[in-house]
Amino acid sequence: MATKKTEHSGIPFSALKISEPLLKVLDEKAYSLATPVQKRLIPVLLDGRNVIVSAQTGSGKTLAFLLPVLEKIYAAGEVKHHYPKVFVLSPTKELAQQIYEVAKPFAAAVDLRAVLLQGGGRRTAETARLKSGADIVVATPQRALEHIEARHIDIRSIQHFIVDEADMMFDMGFVGYLEKIFEKMSPRSQKIIVSATITPRVVKLAKTYIKPLTRIELDPPGKIADTITQMLYPVVRSKKEALLAWLISSNHFEKVLLFVRKKELADGVAAYLREWNYKVGILHGERSHQERKKSLNAFRRGEYQILVATDIAARGLDISDLDVVINYDIPHVKHDFIHRVGRTGRAGKEGMAITLVSPDETEQLNDLQKVLGGKIKEVILPEYAPKEAKARGYFLSALRPKRKTASQRKRTETPGITQKGKKRKTTKRDGFKAFDAAKPKTDKRKDSRRGSRGKK
Ligand code: ADP
Ligand code: MG
Repeated sequence: MATKKTEHSGIPFSALKISEPLLKVLDEKAYSLATPVQKRLIPVLLDGRNVIVSAQTGSGKTLAFLLPVLEKIYAAGEVKHHYPKVFVLSPTKELAQQIYEVAKPFAAAVDLRAVLLQGGGRRTAETARLKSGADIVVATPQRALEHIEARHIDIRSIQHFIVDEADMMFDMGFVGYLEKIFEKMSPRSQKIIVSATITPRVVKLAKTYIKPLTRIELDPPGKIADTITQMLYPVVRSKKEALLAWLISSNHFEKVLLFVRKKELADGVAAYLREWNYKVGILHGERSHQERKKSLNAFRRGEYQILVATDIAARGLDISDLDVVINYDIPHVKHDFIHRVGRTGRAGKEGMAITLVSPDETEQLNDLQKVLGGKIKEVILPEYAPKEAKARGYFLSALRPKRKTASQRKRTETPGITQKGKKRKTTKRDGFKAFDAAKPKTDKRKDSRRGSRGKK
Protein backbone atom coordinates (compact mmCIF):
# COMPACT_ATOMS: atom_id res chain seq x y z
CA MET A 1 0.00 0.00 0.00
CA ALA A 2 0.91 3.69 0.19
CA THR A 3 1.95 3.75 -3.43
CA LYS A 4 -0.73 5.72 -5.19
CA LYS A 5 0.46 9.18 -6.08
CA THR A 6 -1.75 12.18 -6.37
CA GLU A 7 -1.09 14.73 -9.07
CA HIS A 8 0.17 18.10 -8.00
CA SER A 9 -0.05 21.07 -10.26
CA GLY A 10 3.72 21.45 -10.38
CA ILE A 11 5.84 23.06 -13.02
CA PRO A 12 9.13 21.76 -14.39
CA PHE A 13 12.24 22.74 -12.42
CA SER A 14 13.75 24.15 -15.60
CA ALA A 15 11.02 26.81 -15.56
CA LEU A 16 12.28 27.79 -12.10
CA LYS A 17 15.70 28.74 -13.47
CA ILE A 18 17.52 25.76 -12.04
CA SER A 19 20.71 24.98 -13.96
CA GLU A 20 21.55 21.90 -15.95
CA PRO A 21 23.76 20.00 -13.46
CA LEU A 22 21.10 20.23 -10.75
CA LEU A 23 18.33 19.40 -13.23
CA LYS A 24 20.25 16.28 -14.12
CA VAL A 25 20.18 15.05 -10.52
CA LEU A 26 16.46 15.82 -10.27
CA ASP A 27 15.99 13.87 -13.44
CA GLU A 28 17.91 10.87 -12.05
CA LYS A 29 15.61 10.91 -9.05
CA ALA A 30 12.61 11.11 -11.39
CA TYR A 31 11.38 14.34 -9.79
CA SER A 32 9.78 15.76 -12.88
CA LEU A 33 7.72 18.60 -11.41
CA ALA A 34 8.26 21.00 -8.55
CA THR A 35 5.89 20.58 -5.61
CA PRO A 36 3.80 23.63 -4.57
CA VAL A 37 6.25 24.73 -1.87
CA GLN A 38 9.16 24.36 -4.27
CA LYS A 39 7.34 26.34 -6.94
CA ARG A 40 6.60 29.09 -4.46
CA LEU A 41 9.86 29.21 -2.54
CA ILE A 42 12.52 28.72 -5.20
CA PRO A 43 11.99 32.06 -7.00
CA VAL A 44 11.80 33.96 -3.70
CA LEU A 45 15.04 32.42 -2.45
CA LEU A 46 16.78 32.90 -5.78
CA ASP A 47 15.83 36.53 -5.35
CA GLY A 48 17.88 36.50 -2.13
CA ARG A 49 15.06 37.19 0.29
CA ASN A 50 14.91 36.07 3.94
CA VAL A 51 11.87 33.91 4.60
CA ILE A 52 9.97 32.12 7.30
CA VAL A 53 7.99 29.39 5.61
CA SER A 54 5.36 26.90 6.73
CA ALA A 55 4.18 24.09 4.49
CA GLN A 56 2.71 20.75 5.45
CA THR A 57 4.75 17.65 6.19
CA GLY A 58 6.12 15.74 3.23
CA SER A 59 5.61 18.64 0.82
CA GLY A 60 9.24 18.77 -0.32
CA LYS A 61 10.63 21.59 1.81
CA THR A 62 14.20 20.21 1.84
CA LEU A 63 14.75 20.71 -1.87
CA ALA A 64 12.71 23.90 -1.75
CA PHE A 65 15.53 25.48 0.27
CA LEU A 66 18.52 23.44 -0.97
CA LEU A 67 18.03 23.86 -4.71
CA PRO A 68 17.92 27.67 -4.82
CA VAL A 69 20.89 28.17 -2.50
CA LEU A 70 23.01 25.69 -4.45
CA GLU A 71 21.86 27.33 -7.67
CA LYS A 72 22.90 30.75 -6.41
CA ILE A 73 26.37 29.55 -5.48
CA TYR A 74 26.72 27.74 -8.79
CA ALA A 75 25.48 30.73 -10.78
CA ALA A 76 27.94 33.02 -8.97
CA GLY A 77 30.80 31.27 -10.73
CA GLU A 78 33.25 28.48 -10.39
CA VAL A 79 34.00 27.48 -6.80
CA LYS A 80 37.76 27.56 -6.33
CA HIS A 81 37.95 27.60 -2.57
CA HIS A 82 35.94 25.31 -0.38
CA TYR A 83 34.77 27.07 2.74
CA PRO A 84 31.34 27.09 4.46
CA LYS A 85 28.77 28.99 2.45
CA VAL A 86 25.59 27.15 3.37
CA PHE A 87 24.71 26.31 6.94
CA VAL A 88 21.70 24.11 7.73
CA LEU A 89 20.60 23.43 11.31
CA SER A 90 18.37 20.55 12.33
CA PRO A 91 17.08 19.82 15.85
CA THR A 92 17.84 16.08 15.66
CA LYS A 93 20.81 14.01 14.52
CA GLU A 94 18.61 11.79 12.39
CA LEU A 95 17.16 14.69 10.45
CA ALA A 96 20.60 16.28 10.05
CA GLN A 97 21.84 13.00 8.58
CA GLN A 98 18.89 12.87 6.20
CA ILE A 99 19.31 16.46 4.99
CA TYR A 100 23.00 15.74 4.45
CA GLU A 101 22.15 12.68 2.35
CA VAL A 102 19.65 14.69 0.29
CA ALA A 103 22.18 17.48 -0.24
CA LYS A 104 25.15 15.31 -1.22
CA PRO A 105 24.33 14.42 -4.85
CA PHE A 106 23.15 17.94 -5.65
CA ALA A 107 26.24 19.45 -4.04
CA ALA A 108 28.51 17.06 -5.91
CA ALA A 109 26.84 17.97 -9.21
CA VAL A 110 27.99 21.58 -8.81
CA ASP A 111 31.39 20.68 -7.30
CA LEU A 112 30.47 21.60 -3.76
CA ARG A 113 31.32 19.56 -0.70
CA ALA A 114 28.93 18.79 2.13
CA VAL A 115 29.79 17.90 5.71
CA LEU A 116 27.67 16.57 8.57
CA LEU A 117 28.27 17.69 12.16
CA GLN A 118 26.16 15.99 14.77
CA GLY A 119 26.36 15.41 18.49
CA GLY A 120 27.60 11.86 19.07
CA GLY A 121 29.49 11.96 15.79
CA ARG A 122 33.32 11.84 15.90
CA ARG A 123 34.42 15.40 16.42
CA THR A 124 38.00 15.01 15.28
CA ALA A 125 36.83 13.50 12.00
CA GLU A 126 34.38 16.38 11.60
CA THR A 127 37.13 18.91 12.26
CA ALA A 128 39.33 17.25 9.65
CA ARG A 129 36.50 17.42 7.10
CA LEU A 130 35.95 21.09 7.87
CA LYS A 131 39.66 21.84 7.58
CA SER A 132 39.93 20.07 4.25
CA GLY A 133 37.22 22.41 2.94
CA ALA A 134 33.44 22.06 3.01
CA ASP A 135 30.89 24.33 1.37
CA ILE A 136 27.68 23.00 2.90
CA VAL A 137 27.47 22.32 6.60
CA VAL A 138 24.53 20.38 8.01
CA ALA A 139 24.54 20.29 11.79
CA THR A 140 22.70 19.98 15.07
CA PRO A 141 22.84 23.24 17.07
CA GLN A 142 25.07 22.33 20.00
CA ARG A 143 27.72 20.66 17.88
CA ALA A 144 27.55 23.49 15.36
CA LEU A 145 28.25 26.03 18.08
CA GLU A 146 31.17 23.97 19.40
CA HIS A 147 32.83 24.05 15.98
CA ILE A 148 32.07 27.75 15.53
CA GLU A 149 33.55 28.61 18.92
CA ALA A 150 36.61 26.46 18.20
CA ARG A 151 36.96 28.47 14.94
CA HIS A 152 36.69 25.41 12.75
CA ILE A 153 33.99 27.30 10.87
CA ASP A 154 34.25 30.94 9.88
CA ILE A 155 30.65 31.87 10.46
CA ARG A 156 31.06 35.27 8.79
CA SER A 157 31.53 33.47 5.48
CA ILE A 158 28.08 31.86 5.58
CA GLN A 159 25.91 33.17 2.76
CA HIS A 160 22.79 31.07 3.38
CA PHE A 161 21.59 30.05 6.84
CA ILE A 162 18.68 27.62 7.16
CA VAL A 163 16.91 26.46 10.31
CA ASP A 164 14.78 23.40 9.61
CA GLU A 165 12.00 22.36 12.02
CA ALA A 166 12.59 25.64 13.78
CA ASP A 167 9.83 25.28 16.38
CA MET A 168 11.34 22.04 17.66
CA MET A 169 14.50 23.94 18.61
CA PHE A 170 12.41 25.48 21.38
CA ASP A 171 10.84 22.19 22.47
CA MET A 172 14.29 20.61 22.77
CA GLY A 173 15.77 23.52 24.67
CA PHE A 174 18.14 24.49 21.85
CA VAL A 175 17.01 28.06 21.52
CA GLY A 176 20.02 29.37 23.48
CA TYR A 177 22.42 27.82 20.94
CA LEU A 178 20.31 29.12 18.13
CA GLU A 179 20.36 32.67 19.46
CA LYS A 180 24.14 32.59 19.83
CA ILE A 181 24.49 31.41 16.24
CA PHE A 182 22.10 34.08 14.98
CA GLU A 183 24.10 36.73 16.83
CA LYS A 184 27.32 35.64 15.13
CA MET A 185 25.81 35.27 11.67
CA SER A 186 26.58 37.97 9.12
CA PRO A 187 23.67 40.40 8.61
CA ARG A 188 24.27 39.99 4.87
CA SER A 189 23.56 36.24 4.90
CA GLN A 190 20.25 34.98 3.59
CA LYS A 191 18.19 33.45 6.41
CA ILE A 192 15.53 30.81 5.95
CA ILE A 193 13.29 29.36 8.67
CA VAL A 194 11.27 26.25 7.88
CA SER A 195 8.63 24.06 9.53
CA ALA A 196 5.21 22.55 9.01
CA THR A 197 4.25 24.24 12.28
CA ILE A 198 5.53 27.76 12.78
CA THR A 199 4.65 28.80 16.33
CA PRO A 200 4.45 32.39 17.68
CA ARG A 201 7.76 32.08 19.54
CA VAL A 202 9.53 31.12 16.32
CA VAL A 203 8.05 34.17 14.62
CA LYS A 204 9.26 36.30 17.53
CA LEU A 205 12.79 34.87 17.31
CA ALA A 206 12.82 35.35 13.54
CA LYS A 207 11.69 38.96 13.81
CA THR A 208 14.46 39.65 16.33
CA TYR A 209 17.27 38.37 14.14
CA ILE A 210 16.04 38.63 10.58
CA LYS A 211 15.34 41.87 8.79
CA PRO A 212 13.62 42.22 6.40
CA LEU A 213 11.60 39.03 6.64
CA THR A 214 9.04 37.57 4.23
CA ARG A 215 6.40 35.20 5.64
CA ILE A 216 5.24 32.42 3.31
CA GLU A 217 2.40 30.16 4.36
CA LEU A 218 1.61 27.36 1.96
CA ASP A 219 -0.87 25.59 4.20
CA PRO A 220 -2.93 26.68 7.20
CA PRO A 221 -1.24 25.86 10.52
CA GLY A 222 -1.96 22.35 11.73
CA LYS A 223 -3.03 21.16 8.29
CA ILE A 224 -2.51 17.44 7.84
CA ALA A 225 -2.06 16.14 4.29
CA ASP A 226 -5.36 15.16 2.66
CA THR A 227 -3.85 11.86 1.60
CA ILE A 228 -3.58 10.63 5.19
CA THR A 229 -6.44 8.47 6.53
CA GLN A 230 -6.76 8.93 10.26
CA MET A 231 -8.47 6.71 12.82
CA LEU A 232 -8.88 7.16 16.55
CA TYR A 233 -9.33 4.11 18.77
CA PRO A 234 -10.69 4.74 22.26
CA VAL A 235 -9.23 2.03 24.47
CA VAL A 236 -9.10 1.07 28.11
CA ARG A 237 -5.54 1.83 29.24
CA SER A 238 -4.85 -1.71 30.39
CA LYS A 239 -5.77 -3.01 26.93
CA LYS A 240 -3.61 -0.66 24.86
CA GLU A 241 -0.81 -3.15 24.27
CA ALA A 242 -3.22 -5.89 23.28
CA LEU A 243 -5.07 -3.60 20.88
CA LEU A 244 -1.79 -2.50 19.37
CA ALA A 245 -0.66 -6.07 18.70
CA TRP A 246 -4.05 -6.93 17.28
CA LEU A 247 -4.07 -3.91 14.94
CA ILE A 248 -0.63 -4.74 13.59
CA SER A 249 -1.30 -8.42 13.05
CA SER A 250 -4.85 -8.19 11.72
CA ASN A 251 -3.91 -5.49 9.22
CA HIS A 252 -0.72 -7.23 8.13
CA PHE A 253 1.21 -4.01 8.67
CA GLU A 254 4.80 -4.57 7.60
CA LYS A 255 6.40 -1.25 8.36
CA VAL A 256 5.04 0.46 11.45
CA LEU A 257 6.34 3.63 13.03
CA LEU A 258 5.02 3.64 16.58
CA PHE A 259 5.20 6.79 18.66
CA VAL A 260 5.14 6.96 22.43
CA ARG A 261 5.56 9.93 24.74
CA LYS A 262 8.26 8.58 27.03
CA LYS A 263 11.53 6.71 26.70
CA GLU A 264 10.65 4.16 29.38
CA LEU A 265 7.37 3.46 27.65
CA ALA A 266 9.20 2.96 24.35
CA ASP A 267 11.35 0.27 25.97
CA GLY A 268 8.30 -1.34 27.61
CA VAL A 269 6.13 -1.45 24.49
CA ALA A 270 9.06 -2.73 22.43
CA ALA A 271 9.60 -5.55 24.93
CA TYR A 272 5.91 -6.45 24.72
CA LEU A 273 5.97 -6.56 20.92
CA ARG A 274 9.14 -8.65 20.94
CA GLU A 275 7.31 -11.21 23.04
CA TRP A 276 5.05 -11.58 20.01
CA ASN A 277 8.11 -12.23 17.87
CA TYR A 278 8.06 -8.92 16.06
CA LYS A 279 11.39 -7.48 15.04
CA VAL A 280 11.40 -4.16 16.84
CA GLY A 281 13.83 -1.25 16.88
CA ILE A 282 13.89 1.53 19.46
CA LEU A 283 14.70 5.19 18.92
CA HIS A 284 14.83 7.62 21.81
CA GLY A 285 17.10 10.22 23.37
CA GLU A 286 18.59 7.94 25.97
CA ARG A 287 20.00 5.53 23.41
CA SER A 288 23.55 6.06 22.19
CA HIS A 289 24.21 7.73 18.87
CA GLN A 290 25.26 4.39 17.37
CA GLU A 291 22.15 2.59 18.67
CA ARG A 292 19.88 5.31 17.29
CA LYS A 293 21.59 5.17 13.93
CA LYS A 294 21.47 1.39 13.79
CA SER A 295 17.77 1.24 14.70
CA LEU A 296 16.70 3.81 12.14
CA ASN A 297 18.81 2.34 9.35
CA ALA A 298 17.59 -1.19 10.05
CA PHE A 299 14.01 0.07 10.06
CA ARG A 300 14.56 1.93 6.80
CA ARG A 301 15.92 -1.26 5.23
CA GLY A 302 12.95 -3.28 6.51
CA GLU A 303 14.96 -5.39 8.96
CA TYR A 304 12.74 -4.16 11.75
CA GLN A 305 9.02 -4.38 11.21
CA ILE A 306 8.28 -1.87 13.95
CA LEU A 307 10.21 1.15 15.16
CA VAL A 308 9.12 2.36 18.57
CA ALA A 309 10.15 5.98 18.92
CA THR A 310 9.67 9.07 21.00
CA ASP A 311 8.97 12.42 19.40
CA ILE A 312 12.60 12.91 18.40
CA ALA A 313 11.68 10.78 15.38
CA ALA A 314 8.58 12.85 14.63
CA ARG A 315 10.43 15.62 12.86
CA GLY A 316 11.33 15.62 9.23
CA LEU A 317 12.18 11.95 8.79
CA ASP A 318 11.34 10.59 5.38
CA ILE A 319 11.01 6.81 5.58
CA SER A 320 9.90 5.04 2.45
CA ASP A 321 7.09 2.48 2.30
CA LEU A 322 5.75 3.19 5.75
CA ASP A 323 2.44 1.34 6.12
CA VAL A 324 1.20 3.23 9.11
CA VAL A 325 2.03 5.61 11.91
CA ILE A 326 0.56 4.50 15.22
CA ASN A 327 0.31 6.94 18.09
CA TYR A 328 0.34 4.90 21.26
CA ASP A 329 -0.62 8.09 23.06
CA ILE A 330 -1.05 11.79 22.44
CA PRO A 331 2.25 13.67 22.38
CA HIS A 332 3.26 16.06 25.07
CA VAL A 333 3.67 18.90 22.56
CA LYS A 334 0.47 19.08 20.54
CA HIS A 335 2.22 20.18 17.36
CA ASP A 336 4.26 17.01 17.43
CA PHE A 337 1.10 15.09 16.59
CA ILE A 338 1.06 16.78 13.19
CA HIS A 339 4.69 15.78 12.68
CA ARG A 340 4.21 12.21 13.91
CA VAL A 341 1.33 11.70 11.50
CA GLY A 342 3.30 13.47 8.79
CA ARG A 343 5.84 10.64 8.62
CA THR A 344 3.25 8.92 6.41
CA GLY A 345 1.44 10.26 3.36
CA ARG A 346 4.49 12.05 2.01
CA ALA A 347 5.02 13.57 -1.44
CA GLY A 348 1.35 13.08 -2.33
CA LYS A 349 1.30 9.37 -1.45
CA GLU A 350 -1.49 7.85 0.58
CA GLY A 351 -0.83 7.33 4.25
CA MET A 352 -2.47 5.99 7.35
CA ALA A 353 -2.33 7.11 10.95
CA ILE A 354 -3.91 5.43 13.96
CA THR A 355 -4.16 6.96 17.40
CA LEU A 356 -4.93 5.03 20.56
CA VAL A 357 -6.49 7.07 23.30
CA SER A 358 -7.48 6.01 26.80
CA PRO A 359 -9.97 7.82 29.09
CA ASP A 360 -7.19 9.49 31.12
CA GLU A 361 -6.11 11.30 27.94
CA THR A 362 -9.50 12.90 27.22
CA GLU A 363 -8.29 16.38 28.07
CA GLN A 364 -5.20 16.07 25.86
CA LEU A 365 -7.39 14.71 23.08
CA ASN A 366 -9.73 17.70 23.29
CA ASP A 367 -6.77 20.10 23.20
CA LEU A 368 -5.33 18.24 20.27
CA GLN A 369 -8.56 18.34 18.30
CA LYS A 370 -8.60 22.12 18.82
CA VAL A 371 -5.13 22.32 17.26
CA LEU A 372 -6.25 20.09 14.39
CA GLY A 373 -9.44 22.07 13.92
CA GLY A 374 -11.69 19.02 13.93
CA LYS A 375 -12.35 15.57 15.28
CA ILE A 376 -10.55 12.46 14.18
CA LYS A 377 -12.88 9.68 13.07
CA GLU A 378 -13.48 7.23 15.89
CA VAL A 379 -13.45 3.48 15.60
CA ILE A 380 -15.04 1.77 18.57
CA LEU A 381 -14.18 -1.83 19.18
CA PRO A 382 -16.37 -2.99 22.04
CA GLU A 383 -13.79 -5.45 23.24
CA TYR A 384 -11.24 -2.71 23.84
CA ALA A 385 -13.19 0.54 24.13
CA PRO A 386 -14.06 2.11 27.48
CA LYS A 387 -17.70 2.29 28.57
CA GLU A 388 -18.09 6.01 27.72
CA ALA A 389 -16.99 5.39 24.15
CA LYS A 390 -19.29 2.42 23.76
CA ALA A 391 -22.17 4.59 24.89
CA ARG A 392 -21.51 6.83 21.87
CA GLY A 393 -22.40 3.94 19.57
CA TYR A 394 -20.54 1.52 17.32
CA PHE A 395 -18.74 2.02 14.11
CA LEU A 396 -19.37 -1.64 13.49
CA SER A 397 -22.98 -1.51 12.42
CA ALA A 398 -22.27 -1.61 8.70
CA LEU A 399 -19.72 -4.38 8.89
CA ARG A 400 -20.39 -7.87 7.76
CA PRO A 401 -18.22 -10.48 9.45
CA LYS A 402 -16.36 -12.60 6.93
CA ARG A 403 -16.84 -16.36 6.95
CA LYS A 404 -13.75 -17.97 8.36
CA THR A 405 -12.09 -21.31 8.22
CA ALA A 406 -11.97 -23.40 11.39
CA SER A 407 -8.28 -22.64 11.94
CA GLN A 408 -8.80 -18.90 11.48
CA ARG A 409 -11.64 -19.06 13.97
CA LYS A 410 -9.35 -20.67 16.47
CA ARG A 411 -6.51 -18.18 15.93
CA THR A 412 -8.55 -15.02 16.37
CA GLU A 413 -10.52 -16.24 19.32
CA THR A 414 -11.36 -13.22 21.41
CA PRO A 415 -14.02 -12.61 23.99
CA GLY A 416 -17.50 -12.00 22.61
CA ILE A 417 -18.57 -8.47 21.98
CA THR A 418 -21.98 -7.00 22.23
CA GLN A 419 -23.62 -5.14 19.44
CA LYS A 420 -27.18 -4.02 19.91
CA GLY A 421 -27.62 -6.71 22.49
CA LYS A 422 -26.28 -9.52 20.28
CA LYS A 423 -23.15 -11.51 20.98
CA ARG A 424 -20.61 -12.05 18.27
CA LYS A 425 -16.87 -12.52 17.85
CA THR A 426 -14.48 -9.70 16.91
CA THR A 427 -13.43 -10.21 13.31
CA LYS A 428 -10.23 -9.22 11.60
CA ARG A 429 -11.93 -6.44 9.74
CA ASP A 430 -13.91 -5.00 12.59
CA GLY A 431 -13.60 -1.27 12.50
CA PHE A 432 -11.51 -1.36 9.36
CA LYS A 433 -14.02 -0.52 6.73
CA ALA A 434 -12.16 2.60 5.81
CA PHE A 435 -8.97 0.61 5.48
CA ASP A 436 -10.37 -1.91 3.04
CA ALA A 437 -9.16 0.13 0.09
CA ALA A 438 -5.65 -0.46 1.33
CA LYS A 439 -5.43 -4.11 0.53
CA PRO A 440 -3.59 -6.10 3.16
CA LYS A 441 -0.54 -7.90 1.88
CA THR A 442 -0.39 -11.61 2.38
CA ASP A 443 2.93 -13.06 3.24
CA LYS A 444 3.40 -16.72 4.03
CA ARG A 445 6.27 -16.06 6.39
CA LYS A 446 4.18 -13.64 8.38
CA ASP A 447 1.13 -15.86 8.40
CA SER A 448 3.09 -18.69 9.89
CA ARG A 449 4.67 -16.37 12.40
CA ARG A 450 1.29 -15.07 13.40
CA GLY A 451 0.18 -18.62 13.87
CA SER A 452 3.09 -19.37 16.17
CA ARG A 453 2.32 -16.23 18.12
CA GLY A 454 -0.73 -18.14 19.21
CA LYS A 455 -3.63 -17.00 21.27
CA LYS A 456 -3.62 -14.03 23.56
P1 ADP B 1 9.17 18.02 4.04
O1 ADP B 1 10.50 18.57 4.47
O2 ADP B 1 8.28 19.06 3.46
O3 ADP B 1 8.48 17.22 5.08
P2 ADP B 1 10.82 16.41 2.27
O4 ADP B 1 11.69 17.49 1.77
O5 ADP B 1 11.40 15.48 3.28
O6 ADP B 1 9.44 17.01 2.84
O7 ADP B 1 10.28 15.59 1.02
C1 ADP B 1 9.29 14.61 1.14
C2 ADP B 1 9.46 13.56 0.07
O8 ADP B 1 9.17 14.11 -1.20
C3 ADP B 1 10.87 13.01 -0.03
O9 ADP B 1 10.80 11.61 -0.20
C4 ADP B 1 11.41 13.67 -1.27
O10 ADP B 1 12.40 12.89 -1.86
C5 ADP B 1 10.18 13.79 -2.13
N1 ADP B 1 10.21 14.89 -3.10
C6 ADP B 1 10.74 16.11 -2.92
N2 ADP B 1 10.55 16.88 -4.01
C7 ADP B 1 9.88 16.14 -4.90
C8 ADP B 1 9.38 16.39 -6.23
N3 ADP B 1 9.53 17.54 -6.81
N4 ADP B 1 8.73 15.38 -6.85
C9 ADP B 1 8.56 14.19 -6.23
N5 ADP B 1 9.01 13.88 -5.00
C10 ADP B 1 9.65 14.85 -4.32
MG1 MG C 1 11.53 18.54 6.25
